Amino acid sequence: MFVDKVEISIKAGNGGNGAVSFHREKYVNAGGPDGGDGGKGSDIVFQADDNLSTLIDFRYKKKYTGPDGENGGARRCFGKSMEPTVIRVPRGTIIKDAHTGRIMADISDDEPVVVARGGKGGKGNQHFATPTRQIPRFAKPGYPGEKFDVILELKLLADVGLVGFPNVGKSTLISVVSAAKPKIANYHFTTLTPVLGVVKRGERSFVMADIPGLIEGASEGVGLGHAFLRHVERCRLIVHVVDVSGIEGRDPKDDFEKINLELANFSEELAESPQIVAANKSDMATEEQINEFREYIEAKGLKFFTISAATTQGTEALIDCVVEALDKLPPAKRFEVQPLTLEELEAIETEKHSFRVEKIDDVYVVDAEWLAPILSTVNMEDYESLQYFQRVLRSSGIIDELERQGIQEDDLVSIFDFEFNYVR
Ligand code: GDP
Ligand code: MG
Repeated sequence: MFVDKVEISIKAGNGGNGAVSFHREKYVNAGGPDGGDGGKGSDIVFQADDNLSTLIDFRYKKKYTGPDGENGGARRCFGKSMEPTVIRVPRGTIIKDAHTGRIMADISDDEPVVVARGGKGGKGNQHFATPTRQIPRFAKPGYPGEKFDVILELKLLADVGLVGFPNVGKSTLISVVSAAKPKIANYHFTTLTPVLGVVKRGERSFVMADIPGLIEGASEGVGLGHAFLRHVERCRLIVHVVDVSGIEGRDPKDDFEKINLELANFSEELAESPQIVAANKSDMATEEQINEFREYIEAKGLKFFTISAATTQGTEALIDCVVEALDKLPPAKRFEVQPLTLEELEAIETEKHSFRVEKIDDVYVVDAEWLAPILSTVNMEDYESLQYFQRVLRSSGIIDELERQGIQEDDLVSIFDFEFNYVR
């Protein structure tokens, strides 16, 4: 079964907590603080895997959680940081935020992409000793790992997409020009899964995709609709295969226009993709049929090739032309990663958040999980950014709580590994 869209949830590991501990040794009375830092939680990372061609595995496993970093220990022992948790997906998978549709990543290249960051470890109490505070009885909690519900959507990455009516010979063509072995049969619905084939031409190679036509199922009420057309979206070049023999009782010109209309209905951009026309089954067609169709296509300024996929006649010339055309075309489209929307930022800011303020050794320690991602984006050197942060503290009620607990000007406030002096 071909699955090209799924929703899953991912949660990166939390950072380990910093430790509170004091040096102990025989004959030494009060040792200094020696609590070590927590380790970093595991990132959730996506990696393209060319052995995968569908997202079917995600139908059964929908939750992915990275392990938490280890807590710090006594004697300045660092907690262990966790290796990234790698999720393998077919090349060309787009990752979107399930709630906003925001594009978070496009897994089309070889580099792994971090989509949910593991929390940093909290600092141990060894860091918080000062001349006036020699016995810091607090350490910092680890940052929470990021978590998201995401939609994985496969948009195949191929240089060339084959489109055309069912039974015109698309699968046959890809099987003779590449090593791909799709099902070939003389009935409609043969291809319900896109098939990728690597076409080699001397030193050069490109990827060709045999894409099931929407008409293949849609007309029969299979309900495929436009689902498969998303896989043509990223092709750099379309090879439009038409049965020029009309053996199935259809007219090649009519077929050609119908398919183009479907492409245009799906997206304007797709309709404007460069196209080469391959008139197939020429072994069954008359000279007149071929010439009439050739004139029709060439009048549109398109490249036209007469082929017979079954006998491989003309396929070499077609592939040569494809290679030449690809040389002049830009690389396959990548989807830009989109920043957080204003609404998302506002949601983070205004949502009713829980927090805890605890006064330990004259330091006001604020614990608020939701603050971590905000804190990681705030630049403390920047006035505007600081103002924003203060607004967040105020609107969330943290400032009120600090004042209720009797905070004074210049008292120390500590949030994760960030400390500042309170200013009214
Ligand atoms: P698809 O549905 O477009 O993938 O078409 P297929 O490749 O499955 O081919 C459909 C039928 O047409 C099969 O029976 C093929 O053997 C036949 N066919 C494909 N190419 C040619 C050709 O060039 N000449 C002839 N005579 N038959 C062909
Ligand atoms: Mg087919």
